[in-house]
Amino acid sequence: MTEGVRSSARLGAARLDPMGALRRSHACGAIGTELIGREVVVAGWVHGRRDHGGLIFVDLRDRDGLVQIVFRPEVAADAHERAGDLRNEFVVLARGVVERRSPETVNPRLPTGEVEVVVHELRLLNTATPPPFAIDEDAGADETVRLRHRLHDLRRPPLQRALRTRHVLYQSARNTLSELGFLEIETPILAKATPEGARDFLVPSRLQPGEFYALPQSPQIMKQLFMVAGFERYFQIARCFRDEDLRADRQLEFTQIDLEMSFVGVEEVLAVLEELVWRAWRDTVGVELPRPFPRLSYEEAMARYGSDKPDVRVLLELVELTGVFRGTSFRAFGAAVEKGGVVKCLPVHDADALTRGEIDRLESFVKKELGAKGLAWVRVTADGSWQSPIAKFLSDAERAAIAERTQARPGSVLFFAADEFAKANAILGRLRTDLGRQLGRVDERAWAPLFVLNFPVFERGDDGKLTFMHMPFVAPVEEDLHLFDSAPERMHGTHYDVVMNGLELGSGSLRNHRSDVQRRIFEILGYSKAEMEERFGFMLNALEAGAPPHGGFAFGLDRMAMLLAGAESLRDVIAFPKTQRGQDLLMGSPSAVEDQQLQDLRLRIAPAPKGGDA
Ligand code: ASP
Repeated sequence: MTEGVRSSARLGAARLDPMGALRRSHACGAIGTELIGREVVVAGWVHGRRDHGGLIFVDLRDRDGLVQIVFRPEVAADAHERAGDLRNEFVVLARGVVERRSPETVNPRLPTGEVEVVVHELRLLNTATPPPFAIDEDAGADETVRLRHRLHDLRRPPLQRALRTRHVLYQSARNTLSELGFLEIETPILAKATPEGARDFLVPSRLQPGEFYALPQSPQIMKQLFMVAGFERYFQIARCFRDEDLRADRQLEFTQIDLEMSFVGVEEVLAVLEELVWRAWRDTVGVELPRPFPRLSYEEAMARYGSDKPDVRVLLELVELTGVFRGTSFRAFGAAVEKGGVVKCLPVHDADALTRGEIDRLESFVKKELGAKGLAWVRVTADGSWQSPIAKFLSDAERAAIAERTQARPGSVLFFAADEFAKANAILGRLRTDLGRQLGRVDERAWAPLFVLNFPVFERGDDGKLTFMHMPFVAPVEEDLHLFDSAPERMHGTHYDVVMNGLELGSGSLRNHRSDVQRRIFEILGYSKAEMEERFGFMLNALEAGAPPHGGFAFGLDRMAMLLAGAESLRDVIAFPKTQRGQDLLMGSPSAVEDQQLQDLRLRIAPAPKGGDA
């Protein structure tokens, strides 16, 4: 017999209806001094128990907080006797009278710390197995243990708060969009592959053996169909599925606040996004963000911050030096420029705190983590001379140009990257934020929202082929349509992002409502006519059935919730998240299925490929 069951017998929890006629009158966290002298009924979980001679104190916890309940033998001998058997996480209901605590027992850290409930009647509602870790701010257990015991983890205050914040965020978004005339419409989960570029999750069809549904990577196509169908303004809190390798800020399934609107240009969409974000921050954390949100073009963001989602609170900025090194005799930089790459610099002024050891550490970090070939640097010493492994290779004119553009002065340290555009920016962009934080070059604003606009339509993939930058339905800007034939990679799209504190909250664009433009984009992406018809035929037909100009956006709701809840991981704002290996450790998914189920689906499991671990 477990301890719980034994205690249960002693505590008298045999009833199936243990509450009887007694009902909770107040939440634990709501018991305050204004209730002194009143009778209350509280219910919740035993958070802790202390026996002090004749008295027994129990911290009782419900979702609103903790309150201390006290058992005194002279008040209720029976309740007091049974309270001795209470264990952590037992579920109880207690009727008692609120009293002021004596001054020496007041707990200023607890909102209910000035009072306690003196118990007259105790009902045990259920026993509990001992919790695997502390149900506290800090569980004191590693994440794997927490995820395996997610039920107990979810009882902890940070997760209770996070899911509450998430709830407020849902309601805020729903209210805002509904007031702005958006209709909430659901789309199917058993869907067809959509073109966000990630791997699909497939669901085998029993009724059409050998055929598969794809779980939606987003409701993109369906929301565009809503516009053609005349709904004009749609939104949905939509679950999306992408079978990707998991990083800290990704999950296999995630939630978007997805929206689409007709008869609009970029400005009208941005106005909706700003309103939604502004109200979300006000409603969840009580912050009124300054508006209008600042705007940066993609080009400016990359040039100044080396990132299309810059944290503009970090005060360091990059400087462009490519022109200075065209035709240089310094091979390390010259070769990068000849290959079409860039030379950029991150100047850090007043950088005496950056020791040589620290610079070496940064170099090995960017080599190991970011694939940099090296990290060239210059320190300007007190007498103005340049201490640097590369200074001797630079001409006087190059030194003068660097000094002028970076405004180098005694105490400055300059870091250089000469590489492909994306890599050079990734290296210096990362150094910028790391060093900026480390050296305290950060402005005090808690929140820095931003629109990034005018992304390119296409980018070159690793294989040198053009691929889409966001997704294939983004409309190019009107002025760049003539570049379709000559230089598609120079075309700008109507694509915009909302960025907050260096995190992308979401993306959107105006869409191609003209089927000829959409077909042209599919051609550039390398789709044959037959593939186009097979994959997107219904979409192209829809564009030809009277598609209004339209555009939209999708916010990553989990990421917003993470920022708003002050959580460090998406897993801390999702009730039942997956691990890095895509597993749910509580319920044990994914898991094998019965042979019969496979037969019904006419599926067979192939042996693991050699060298694979599947
Ligand atoms: N469907 C897009 C995505 O999930 C967002 C959008 O453009 O509306 O990235």
